[in-house]
Amino acid sequence: MAWRCSGASNAELVANLRSGGIMKSDSVAKAMGDTDRANYVPNKRHAYDDSPQSIGYGATISAPHMHAYASEHLLPYLRPSARVLDVGSGSGYLVAVFAHLVGPSGKVVGIEHVPELVEWSEKNLRTDGLSKSLDDKSIEMIAGDGRKGYEQGGPYDVIHVGAAAPTVPQELIDQLASPGRMFIPVGTYMQSIEQIDKDANGKVTREQVMDVRYVPLTDKEKQVGAFN
Ligand code: SAH
Repeated sequence: MAWRCSGASNAELVANLRSGGIMKSDSVAKAMGDTDRANYVPNKRHAYDDSPQSIGYGATISAPHMHAYASEHLLPYLRPSARVLDVGSGSGYLVAVFAHLVGPSGKVVGIEHVPELVEWSEKNLRTDGLSKSLDDKSIEMIAGDGRKGYEQGGPYDVIHVGAAAPTVPQELIDQLASPGRMFIPVGTYMQSIEQIDKDANGKVTREQVMDVRYVPLTDKEKQVGAFN
């Protein structure tokens, strides 16, 4: 599965995700087609492999099929002008995909606790053609502890979490709009993605959608210390 959708170019990778049935919608195909994964990975030779890649500091850019799954699950809420929070934004790849989906009237905040990765992700987004969005703040990259969310930018129609939380942080549920949807890997050794929906009345429901293996949502010292 990890290699099944690999391609020789970004367009081929997207086409393979599509024919593999992972990517179902034209809009996600267009947004991932407009986001060149080569701009978000250190090892360009493996840019279009359908596998995760180390980005340093104990972090990885997720495999393209996981980015596609996440985008498809969140798609009903990623409408033009939506507000989005990406926790553990790492390379910046998904921030770019979400920015394409919500358009110039939307807002995407990426929060990442390794400041070097925040700086690198901004550079990646600029290389990938998103300088204007950073300059007009329709994309904002924040250095900080994503477990607390980023209240100033909320409430969010969509919260994506790119690292596995032992339990769902209450702050993130609080910062979800009514209605809104969160996609979050939960667990330590055994992990599964939970799709958490808050309805128009504020009622929260949780559903497990698949088993996964993500890096932990943790303390910066634990993560970077383990890596050094
Ligand atoms: N979606 C990103 C995933 C990166 S891996 C991508 O595909 O590039 C998960 C990221 O979560 C790492 O960059 C890691 O540094 C970050 N992270 C882990 N714990 C965090 C925390 N408490 N606050 C913010 N970021 C965190």
